[in-house]
Amino acid sequence: MISYGKQSINHKDIDAVIKVLKSEYLTQGPIVDQFEKKLNKKFGSKFSCVVSNGTAALHLAGLSLGWESGDVIITSPITFLASANCIVYCGAIPDFVDIDPKTYTIDINRLEEKIKQYLSRGKKIKAVVGVDYAGHPCDWKSLRMLADRYDFQLINDNCHALGAQYDNDIQYAVKYADIVTQSYHPVKTITTGEGGALLTNDSKINEKVRLMRSHGMNKNEEMSRKHGLWYYEMENLGFNYRITDIQCAIGISQLERLESFIKKRQKIAKIYNEHFNQIDYLSTPSINYDISHAYHLYPIQIHFDKIDMDKNTLFKLMKNKNILLQVHYIPVHTQPFYKNKYGFKVGQFEIAESFYNYEVSLPIYPDLSEQDLNKVINELNQSINVI
Ligand SMILES: *Cc1c(COP(=O)(O)O)cnc(C)c1O
Repeated sequence: MISYGKQSINHKDIDAVIKVLKSEYLTQGPIVDQFEKKLNKKFGSKFSCVVSNGTAALHLAGLSLGWESGDVIITSPITFLASANCIVYCGAIPDFVDIDPKTYTIDINRLEEKIKQYLSRGKKIKAVVGVDYAGHPCDWKSLRMLADRYDFQLINDNCHALGAQYDNDIQYAVKYADIVTQSYHPVKTITTGEGGALLTNDSKINEKVRLMRSHGMNKNEEMSRKHGLWYYEMENLGFNYRITDIQCAIGISQLERLESFIKKRQKIAKIYNEHFNQIDYLSTPSINYDISHAYHLYPIQIHFDKIDMDKNTLFKLMKNKNILLQVHYIPVHTQPFYKNKYGFKVGQFEIAESFYNYEVSLPIYPDLSEQDLNKVINELNQSINVI
């Protein structure tokens, strides 16, 4: 089966794991620290805190920024559920702003309109969770400008965009956002099996998330001196969102391969572009002049209405050829939970919904062979022309 995404594991990744298995610590050992230092170096952050998954990272991000009941936090409807669920975890109110039809990331003008609508009702928004969808960075300069103008917090849900560039800079994310979250799920750019991280330049945020990662337990030399060597204190409620040394060892090894992963993804995207650019009922991803795309996904828009075919028929035809297409994403506001709990309605974010109707994610991952890539292209062409 050829699926939309898949990990790439080599002998170095495997050796790194074996080494930890033979060492003293399987978790809470030195490799966690090492991975965090490497992340700081790669992505230009002062601090990073690795956690059990990207969703935990988003949850801790919200908590460390003090989100609570009554706070309004805005994100894009075209994202994975977790970008919005983290708002609900904190008891805050999720809201959405439609996407830009070109970049598929949050529309800046509509965001400002939304902020003004809230202000006219005497309400300030607390934060925006920007999502660098598919690996295309948001318009972060404008987001930063709005955040300063209207005084709200900025999170970059960067789970798709490790290795992307904005203004020729791979370290862009932490420059614009207060907190950056990453995921190392096997379909993402680098993997640790399950895993994630928060990156920040703010030492207070860093302290808070580190405590919350492990039950809120605090232990230091002063406490030991005063109360005894066993002593620890819990001031705030935390979780077990830790990640193991085993996983961090894969992470370190995978991080060294980031650039080569991105090159392979970009190469595949270029070949898809060449084949599909000229077809009038199909749009390939467009990219802004100031970015370099990380291609976690290769989302195309197939105008099914123009070819008299429906999406499910295409999915079935392709599945019969052992190719599993995917859709990213069902707009979050149309999920029953969001409709029932918050009153969101189908038709509320038209660009996102039309994007969803046409969107198909083609297989893209570093180990996709040339033969399989050609198979995807040929089978897609044939399937569409069958009808
Ligand atoms: C994968 C992903 C997450 C969640 O990460 P997990 O590690 O699976 O918990 C959050 N946001 C986006 C945009 C993602 O793609």
